[in-house]
Amino acid sequence: MEIIRESFDTPVVEECDVLVAGGGIAGIAAALAAARAGAKVTMIERSWILGGLATSGLIAIYLPIDDGMGHQVSFGICQELFMLSIKHLVESRYPKAWLENGTFEEKRDGKRFEVQYNASLFALESEKLLNKNGVRILYGTEICDVKRDADRIEAIIAQNKSGRFAIKFKNIVDATGDADIVHFAKMPEETFKAGNVLAAWYFSIKDNWHKLNQIGAADIPDEEKTGNNERKPLIDRRFTGLSGFELSEMMQLSHEQTLRDIVLKRKSDPNHVPTLIATIPQIRMTRRIVGEYTYDVADEHKFFEDSIGMYSNWKKRGPVYEMPFRTLYNKEVKNLITAGRNVSVTEHMWDASRVIPACAVMGEAAGIAAACYDDIPGIDVKDLQKKLVAGGVVLHEKDLNI
Ligand SMILES: Cc1cc2nc3c(=O)[nH]c(=O)nc-3n(C[C@H](O)[C@H](O)[C@H](O)COP(=O)(O)OP(=O)(O)OC[C@H]3O[C@@H](n4cnc5c(N)ncnc54)[C@H](O)[C@@H]3O)c2cc1C
Repeated sequence: MEIIRESFDTPVVEECDVLVAGGGIAGIAAALAAARAGAKVTMIERSWILGGLATSGLIAIYLPIDDGMGHQVSFGICQELFMLSIKHLVESRYPKAWLENGTFEEKRDGKRFEVQYNASLFALESEKLLNKNGVRILYGTEICDVKRDADRIEAIIAQNKSGRFAIKFKNIVDATGDADIVHFAKMPEETFKAGNVLAAWYFSIKDNWHKLNQIGAADIPDEEKTGNNERKPLIDRRFTGLSGFELSEMMQLSHEQTLRDIVLKRKSDPNHVPTLIATIPQIRMTRRIVGEYTYDVADEHKFFEDSIGMYSNWKKRGPVYEMPFRTLYNKEVKNLITAGRNVSVTEHMWDASRVIPACAVMGEAAGIAAACYDDIPGIDVKDLQKKLVAGGVVLHEKDLNI
């Protein structure tokens, strides 16, 4: 391959306490928690609204924050963002029993504590919330490298309309979804081996209301809902989500499927009109950190001394997962912590840990850790847990009063 050698000095344009890389759900939770803990926070987001997959990607379903057995399991900022997502009551799948003092039986046997929200309103409200808490948001800015010195990352290198620049910080939260910072820092990483199926979710008008068309379902079987293991991908091809060239092609294949679905539906319903298509690739699992602990499905219901909060399984009722703090970092670098769909879980666990509630739970812990301590692997976890509990987080299944 022909090589062009570049050489330039990169100006350091600012410094902060906590740099949050990525403004998806995990990044929003992390930035909010860090700012509330008193840190000067800068968030870098390459698109132009907050929310990542949960807004620009049109994944507008806040999956359950209960265990499907009548108990809420995710709290704190995860619950706060859930409520924010339906603040304007523009939603469907409203979990009445959960939000209007239903009985235990109604909660256990009825709808789970999940909701469909309006992606645009959620993005706008999230931005307002972060602004109110003093988070500096830099949109349209892509992080393309880091400056690592031994066991610390000194700065990120980013690029936007102003050109290329660096920002220095005390700690960094990798909430890019793809573990980009871990990758740029040459830390231990793992990729999703099975590859992603194509998705083409979009909104349309249906009966004077907006309808989410979920084209291209998760390929790990949703046994509880479908009762079978057969899931047909839209096309016979898998995507890593880690090549810009592949992603660009994937996006166009997704557009093709969206258009196909619209044309098909309009044959039987001329009122089927698309209103929103995704503006970022709908990709589920890509790359993650290799943390000090890698969580597996076999860890379900297990007590973890260093739990930072819990989440459940969106596919079936019952499982509860306590997330160990050790899944968020690797000792090699003292000032990096991850949150969201790029934390340390096994291939089989990934499909449960990547969803919105889990990302928010991890984001809150990562944000507080990044704001309050200098050496992330050396943190006094009990102290971190005290701060999480003060914010309403429940750490252990045994504390759910079951
Ligand atoms: C088709 C599909 C269906 C799904 N269904 C559901 C569902 O029904 N309910 C549910 O709860 N979850 C669902 N999920 C999963 C869920 O939406 C995501 O996993 C979750 O929202 C991820 O949040 P995150 O913050 O970890 O990452 P992301 O949402 O990916 O956010 C990462 C952010 O970082 C930014 N970024 C990335 N790299 C850089 C960089 N180098 N520089 C600057 N910015 C960067 C991105 O622009 C993005 O905004 C689905 C996902 C897909 C793809």
